[in-house]
Amino acid sequence: MDELRNISIRIGKIEEEEEEWGEVGPTIKPHILDLREWDKKLLERYEPFYAPMQDFCNLCTMGPCDLSMNKRGACGIDLKTQKARLVAIACCIGASAHCAHGRHLLDYAIEEFGEDYPLDFGSNVNVEMPNTRLVFGIKPKTLGDLDAVMSYCEQEIVRVLHTTHTGNEGSYYDYESKALHVSMIDHVAMEIADAVQIVAYKYPKAEPNTPLVETGFGIVDRSKPVIVVIGHNVMSARPISDLLEEKNFDMELAGLCCTAHDVTRYNPKAKIFGPIYSG
Ligand code: SF4
Repeated sequence: MDELRNISIRIGKIEEEEEEWGEVGPTIKPHILDLREWDKKLLERYEPFYAPMQDFCNLCTMGPCDLSMNKRGACGIDLKTQKARLVAIACCIGASAHCAHGRHLLDYAIEEFGEDYPLDFGSNVNVEMPNTRLVFGIKPKTLGDLDAVMSYCEQEIVRVLHTTHTGNEGSYYDYESKALHVSMIDHVAMEIADAVQIVAYKYPKAEPNTPLVETGFGIVDRSKPVIVVIGHNVMSARPISDLLEEKNFDMELAGLCCTAHDVTRYNPKAKIFGPIYSG
């Protein structure tokens, strides 16, 4: 035993053997270049069309650069490439908003319920998390399984965003390919966020008798105090709903955008008083 005194043993994450659930394709966990050839086929069939509102670029301190009349900026890009670059940036903005929201929910749920908490979507869902299965190549069973998928999404968004920095890319086609890549990642991140909400907040699980909720500006009872929630993330709306129920406050809980929709899945008495818009 004396010889073992200075030996320390650490056991990290234990990988369980994956249950066979289907044939895995050749491009799981794709990075930017892995689907480039496929994107090329799509972009040849659906040729991008640009109708720029401006013919200059001022995205870096070398500018502003005049890109009119086929001129190129100091970094070498033309107007078409600059517009495709803005498309990739816009896709990164959307993907990162959903991904950050999903990460917030996932970290909270793991802290609250533990990483072994099962992903139970009820008996009416045959193919749970199809985007995650297709892109990441796993059939997630627990909250902890989603952590690696979310890390992959975060990494890919950073990789695409990095290519939009001055001088890192010179082809409109490659920016469009990157926009497709990060938009695919966006769908995985959104799926994770919704999966976490469903299992952690006990949202309806493909129940045919899920209550319908009221929508429209006129449905809010303005004679009562009204709390309005706006944005993507239901994290703060849920405790508000809990407090109103617990204290039996006679108040209206209403909202705009994703948070409004998601809080009605938690509390059918909440109201959606405006259209979905980017909050
Ligand atoms: S990114 Fe390129 S085109 Fe835009 S301002 Fe900088 S040098 Fe000019």
